Amino acid sequence: MKKVVKFGGSSLADANQFRKVAEIIRADEMRVFVVPSAPGKRNSSDTKVTDLLYQCYDMAAKGNDFSVPFSAVKERYGEIISGLGLNLSLSGAFEEIESSLRDSPEKDYTASRGEYLNGLIMAEFLGYEFIDSADVIFFDENGNFDGAKTYPILAERLKGSKGAVIPGFYGSSPDGRVKTFSRGGSDITGSIIARACRACTYENWTDVSGLLMTDPHIVPNPARIESITYRELRELAYMGASVMHEDAIFPVKSANIPINIRNTNRPEDSGTWIVGNTARRSKFTITGIAGRKDFCAITIAKDLMHSQADFYRKVAQCFEENNIPLEHLPSGIDTLTVIVQESKFIEHEQDVLSRIAKFVEPESVEVEAGIALIAVVGRSMKSQTGTAAKIFKALADERINVRMIDQGASELNIIVGVLNPDFEDAVKAIYNAFVN
Ligand code: ASP
Repeated sequence: MKKVVKFGGSSLADANQFRKVAEIIRADEMRVFVVPSAPGKRNSSDTKVTDLLYQCYDMAAKGNDFSVPFSAVKERYGEIISGLGLNLSLSGAFEEIESSLRDSPEKDYTASRGEYLNGLIMAEFLGYEFIDSADVIFFDENGNFDGAKTYPILAERLKGSKGAVIPGFYGSSPDGRVKTFSRGGSDITGSIIARACRACTYENWTDVSGLLMTDPHIVPNPARIESITYRELRELAYMGASVMHEDAIFPVKSANIPINIRNTNRPEDSGTWIVGNTARRSKFTITGIAGRKDFCAITIAKDLMHSQADFYRKVAQCFEENNIPLEHLPSGIDTLTVIVQESKFIEHEQDVLSRIAKFVEPESVEVEAGIALIAVVGRSMKSQTGTAAKIFKALADERINVRMIDQGASELNIIVGVLNPDFEDAVKAIYNAFVN
């Protein structure tokens, strides 16, 4: 049985953090494949190495002197190497990066060096082999991750390895150039490695002890989620909850490999388990609450709309023609409300409205902006009565007006719409109703 362990930038920000990481790895012999990010911030005013590298690229691409951020990058690695007492020189690697910046700067290659160099140090420190991700992770011509090419090659390469460091964030394009995932993409690399080696667990080590039930900026010290299904996480992530790169779920999800979010600074905490399925009930009926502001509600009234088979299609088409995705469609007998993101709607508002007038011929159309949506998510809702009642009572007690309600058919979530200014109070009220 093997575990893949991915460490985020804050877990590898300096030599002291590297030591903690090595101790974690050595504490469990199943932790054989290690995916490092680039060194992150050491304190709130610090700059991530990846950001320094993007600065180098931006300056070099304009033909400007990039020596200030480049020296800062060298210094960061120099400190880590000397702090760990390693006998490792990165001067050859730095020369290569410098000459590429000077002769033909490439954005993705430059940015990827943060993980590459950290991987070299980590491999040396652990005594693990180094596998360059450019040799085992591939993108297709359109810039998308190419699983069909990657998995067989990667699985074969990992097969005989007793311990390897594979840097996060990048792979290579069909033309052989280095290409990165989007920001935070080391999470995706970890997930790909876990799937390729059929790991029993993908451990994602960061600086928090797992996912919190809601945003700590709204509710101070929210409870930690012990376990959450991939589907619940998707619902929460879509509504703004973040802990990992969104795309990191897919490779492990299809292979049913659980993800364990852990805290490098508190390895004794069990963290959060993200799993395909679980018999464990969530402690508080609901698993989490997340939400976003700034949606628009377009309410279309038309008598006997339900007797017209093409009514929904016509409405949908007015939005589709403007490339506006529909978020929710709560309906009444003679009304349909379309909820869309304000930022996507405003620009095309008049076109959408005139199409609705022309093709749908409604009795009336009302438009309301400034709606916040709150998703109350929980796999245990299905088997318990009174969840919705509890949510609405909590909101009513706070005198918060509910503008919209939508329950997914899967009974995994209840979405409520409130006005933007009520958003924070609504989240607090719902949280307190279930947790406190
Ligand atoms: N170092 C990259 C970034 O800052 C990738 C990562 O950390 O996952 O986005």
